[in-house]
Amino acid sequence: TIGMLAIDENGDISGACTTSGLAYKMAGRVGDSPVIGSGLFIDNEVGGATATGLGEEVLKTVGSFLIVELMRQGKTPQEACEEAIKRIVDKPGSNYKNFQVGYVAVNKQGDYGAYSIHKHFSYNLYKDKENKNHKSDFYIK
Ligand code: ASP
Repeated sequence: TIGMLAIDENGDISGACTTSGLAYKMAGRVGDSPVIGSGLFIDNEVGGATATGLGEEVLKTVGSFLIVELMRQGKTPQEACEEAIKRIVDKPGSNYKNFQVGYVAVNKQGDYGAYSIHKHFSYNLYKDKENKNHKSDFYIK
């Protein structure tokens, strides 16, 4: 998945999400990426979030919507991404050691965060005319 979040000089937020889907997927499978609220969600009054990884797990927790709602309640983008990952990990019977999910989020102030289950989830931040790669923090140390 390629998920993108943008915030302009007026603080207006937009996003996009595209995916190649899952290797060897069942015919007709629809992942999280095209489902607003799961692979991507923006509320211009609060912030935005987008997801990558095993779409079924993101869909079950409506992950991007969850992150935006957590930010609405006062969490930072980083805290909200961490809580959304923990929501997946803490599900009874969760098989989280065997799949990856990663989130990035931005809020109305331009603060951002990212978190994933496993390491090796990185994202690019373009800010002040500079493009920098960041490695996300992750759950399984
Ligand atoms: N989230 C996508 C899906 O489940 C997979 C990906 O990360 O590209 O369809």
